[in-house]
Amino acid sequence: KKSSFAETKVAVLGPHGVGKSALSVRFLTKRFIGEYDQSAESKYKYTTNVDGETMIFEVLDTVSENEDCGARDDVLRWTDCIMLVYSVVSRKSFDAIPELKKTIEESRKGASIPMILIGNKRDLAHMREVSTEEGEKLAVEYGCPFLEVSASEDVDTVTEAFHKVSREVIEFKRR
Ligand code: GDP
Ligand code: MG
Repeated sequence: KKSSFAETKVAVLGPHGVGKSALSVRFLTKRFIGEYDQSAESKYKYTTNVDGETMIFEVLDTVSENEDCGARDDVLRWTDCIMLVYSVVSRKSFDAIPELKKTIEESRKGASIPMILIGNKRDLAHMREVSTEEGEKLAVEYGCPFLEVSASEDVDTVTEAFHKVSREVIEFKRR
């Protein structure tokens, strides 16, 4: 067995305001801060344990100033996997995901890449605009895992989301 550290580069992509920064910071610090710099793209390095193995995460918290939702060519060349994020309280953010997926596919010229679909802000149940079933259905269409999470209320599911996508990367690299 090869003894090397596994590494996962994650690009967190999605429309403005869905909680990309909140999710990244929650995963890395276990804390929810509330307000995040809306203008700066941040890259974090974080070493943790996934399924008993050391995993080095590099997390790129992107900024979506325009309709590409942070899916620039250089980002897509750099990353091992993509976390596609929408907010369950924003129909508009969910409706932006197929366009984002298309941008990714065009940039990568059809080469597949591990992904996970994330519906954030599930704590805001009274404001929900996107059902769990809709998220699940889209993930089935994309052939990727799906999780609803809350960056503000729940650290475990957020952690699980990053771990899940890192497992996808390990599987993908094995092929
Ligand atoms: P980004 O533009 O995708 O990076 O979004 P931010 O991480 O900056 O979050 C946008 C706003 O949504 C901020 O006011 C956050 O405090 C809030 N937010 C992020 N995640 C959650 C969540 O899970 N629940 C709730 N209630 N608010 C959240
Ligand atoms: Mg942000």
